[in-house]
Order: sequence, then C-alpha cells, then structure tokens
Amino acid sequence: MKSQHRCHCHIIPPFVVDELKKAGVDISSQDKTINRSFRARRAEQLALRSSESALVAPPTKNADRLVYDSKTTQNQRLLLVRKEGGAASADPIVNTVYENTGAVRSYYKDTFNYLSVDNHGADLVLNVHFGKAYANAFWDGDEMTFGDGDGEVFINLANAIDVTAHELTHGVVQYTAGLNYQGQSGALNEHYADVFGSVIKQIAKKETAATADWLIGDEIMGPTLKGQALRSMKAPGTAYDNKLMGKDPQPAHMDNIYKGSQDNGGVHINSGIPNKIFYLVSVGIETDKAALLWFETLKTLKPTTNFKSFKTAVLKQAKKLAKAGSLPADTETTVKQAFEAVGL
Ligand SMILES: [Zn+2]
Repeated sequence: MKSQHRCHCHIIPPFVVDELKKAGVDISSQDKTINRSFRARRAEQLALRSSESALVAPPTKNADRLVYDSKTTQNQRLLLVRKEGGAASADPIVNTVYENTGAVRSYYKDTFNYLSVDNHGADLVLNVHFGKAYANAFWDGDEMTFGDGDGEVFINLANAIDVTAHELTHGVVQYTAGLNYQGQSGALNEHYADVFGSVIKQIAKKETAATADWLIGDEIMGPTLKGQALRSMKAPGTAYDNKLMGKDPQPAHMDNIYKGSQDNGGVHINSGIPNKIFYLVSVGIETDKAALLWFETLKTLKPTTNFKSFKTAVLKQAKKLAKAGSLPADTETTVKQAFEAVGL
C-alpha cells in the first residue's frame, strides 16, 4: 500500500476553476468544505488501515461496483442505489456511471489481467449527485465522486467515459508506480490518467489513433462551451480558448515547459508534453500497442520518475516487448522519434 502517494485529483484543474471565478462563474464555492471534511475522514481511515495492514495482507475482492447517491449533499456513501449485478436504476446517471465503470474494469482485466484499481479487486465506489451543481469529479485515494455540473458551463460529470477512466486510472497509478503528485512525476500521473481515459474512450467509440479526436472532457462541456474540451493530447494548448476558461496553457514541447508553482507545479499543464508523445507513438504503432507499452512501463516507474527517466523506462520496455514479439520491431525508433519531437 502506497498511501503516501494518494492524490486528491480533480478533473477540472485549479487554474480553470480560477479563470471561471474571474469571469463570474464560481464552481469552487464548495471546495473548502469538501476538503476539510475529507482531510478529517482520510486521516481516520489511513490510521485504521496502517494498523490493519501490519497484521494481514490486503484481502482479494471481486471489484464490485457500488453506486451511491449523495442527494446533492457533500456526503459520500450516503444512499446505495445500485450494486454489482443489481437492477438498473430509474436514474440514468446511476446507470451510465455503472456501465462506464464496468467498461474501465473490463479493459484493465481483459487487456492486462489487472483487477480493479489495486489488482486485488477492491470495490469500485462511485458517488453521484455530489454537492449542489458541483462542477467537478475526483478520485480521492479510495473512491470516485461526481458533481452534477452547473448545466451551463459543465453538464453532469458522470456522463463521460473518459472522465471516469481518467479518475479510476489515478487509482491504478496510486497502486503501481505511486507517482508523486507534484512537478514532473505529478504531470506523469496526470498523463497516465489522460492516456487510459483516451484509450478506453477510443475502444468504447470504436475509433483508431487516426480517427479519434484525442480530446479529454469534451463530453462534459455544457451548452455555453460546446465544442471545447479540457485537454487535447493531439495538439496540447488548443483544447479551449474562451472568455470563461481563458486559454489552454498546455505546452507540447520542452521549450515551453511550465516552471511555476501553481497546480502542484503544473501537473495538469506539463502533462501536455508526454500526452503529445503518447499520441505520436499511437499514430505510429496504433493505440492498443502504445497502451500496452505504457502500462508495462508504468509498473517499472518510481514515485519520483521525471520526464527524462520516463524516456529511458519507455525505451527499455519498447526494446523488451518488441523482442518478445508483443510490439512491432520498429517500436523503439518510433518511441525515440516521438520523445525527440517534444524536445526530450
Ligand atoms: Zn487527473
């Protein structure tokens, strides 16, 4: 258990929340209360777990989906409305998040034989209708939570499979590499969440590297911002440019890497650089092959891996997997060219 590497990861980055606030749309109003109550609850749970884990290994479970309705309060696990194998709900959001989470779980199990976020079949706990018109979704270290959105700028955050896959992948990263959520390792954490958000979305929509839009979060944009997205893996820095959100700050090259301190040292900003690399490799060897390479690499990374050591790690796996016949023979060259294209 790598509890020290848990992140409280929101899909809408802090700098977007700030821009919206300047434009008169406050989606951050509930964050203070949420964070305070989480910190207290998390501290209790971690204390409990560390005393348990000293005695027994984590139990193997069945990766059951449990969907709870927060009923527009800020409570998690308030009312269980659908459990694994249970009847469909009258609430379409409950069913959508149940189905999307099933697709994410199946992807990891069928592709990598990896069960749930921890590979021990941990329950997949999902909270919907969290807060009043709360316009965010997050992974907080052991469960997922979705707000309804304000309906204008963002619609219900539980609608989009890339958002669900992004947040659950933060769980997978937590239990594998445990990438620290700060600076370049944090940008790699965000990058991995976007990679599998995009890969699983491409499968759901039967797309290829060439036909996919490579956008993250385009399906949660409300009527006011229709046509925009949170990020573009194909063209970082071009996902949005409007009066409400400002302009997409993601760099696509090391020359423009963000060196400031906001957003945990630019975790949602500098992820544009590895995102572009993954896009280029996918175009070269196809998305499913690139995903295999990225997942195998993830298992070898350390909490402090930076972009440079990430390059070394991907190249090492590319060589190994190509030699074993799991990837095309020219994968190493494709990977090298992709890293060079962004200045690495
Ligand atoms: Zn994230």
